[in-house]
Amino acid sequence: MKSYSTIPNLQKALQKFKANGKSIAFAPTMGALHQGHIALINRANEIADISVCSIFVNPTQFNVKEDLDKYPRLLEGDSKKLEEAQCDILFHPDEDEVYPDGTDQGIDFDIGYYGEILEAEFRPGHFEGMVQVVSRLLDIVQPDFLIMGQKDFQQFTIVQKLIDFKKINTKLDIIPIARESDGLAMSSRNIRLDKGIRLKADIIHQTLSYVKRRIEIDNVDDLKMYAEKQLNEGPFRMEYFEIVDGFTLQPIEEYEDHGYVVVVTAVWAGEIRLIDNIICKKAL
Ligand code: AMP
Repeated sequence: MKSYSTIPNLQKALQKFKANGKSIAFAPTMGALHQGHIALINRANEIADISVCSIFVNPTQFNVKEDLDKYPRLLEGDSKKLEEAQCDILFHPDEDEVYPDGTDQGIDFDIGYYGEILEAEFRPGHFEGMVQVVSRLLDIVQPDFLIMGQKDFQQFTIVQKLIDFKKINTKLDIIPIARESDGLAMSSRNIRLDKGIRLKADIIHQTLSYVKRRIEIDNVDDLKMYAEKQLNEGPFRMEYFEIVDGFTLQPIEEYEDHGYVVVVTAVWAGEIRLIDNIICKKAL
């Protein structure tokens, strides 16, 4: 694996591959890599000739400074994991490299109501920051494929809109959620969970799975009430839990009326905020 921290060096390497007709698949991450991230690299290796992973803890997508400061930074261990996963290129720029003109440049894409609902309601500015960094990274890497995880459902929905709007010549590829053996969605934040809370954190996936099992039988409001009770037990505090249309991300009333249905949630587990989702019905 080759590692680069500057754009010219990365682009020189990529240019060589592109000139030889090699396809590039790119997985942007913030590091503290786990099996979910490795699945992105595996997918990249499956569908393209060259896999590129970036590790950059993007300051503009954190609305709480403390969360940014506490975000795990583990470049050495991450490098090893990527090497083992046969990642071809690691790009790990610093802030000045990504934002040479500072971080206040804004974005030239209107996220619309997707930037106001669900995650965005509780993390104002998060998706603007995410769009800012993804646009910038796509501009730098210009990959054939962008690999992202289903774990961040609203994120990839917005990124697809960005790609469509800007007519970017990159195909977005989504991989399923990688989970721990008890069902907890893998996350770089999981290592910060209190031990006792970690043991109970499977409640999130259990609740999502229950809703998926019952959604053709029970009504939506009853399922939401059930979830609200489950996800406010002990150290858990539910921030939102919605059963939404997978395209519009708007809450549904009748399951049968929609071809694509996903259940999305954010839950505080003690001091740590976790997100998860489950697809109940997927349009072909
Ligand atoms: P992050 O480093 O958290 O910004 O995530 C980088 C990419 O990895 C995003 O596309 C995430 O959706 C994806 N990702 C994070 N956790 C998981 C997971 N448990 N399963 C699948 N993809 C994931």
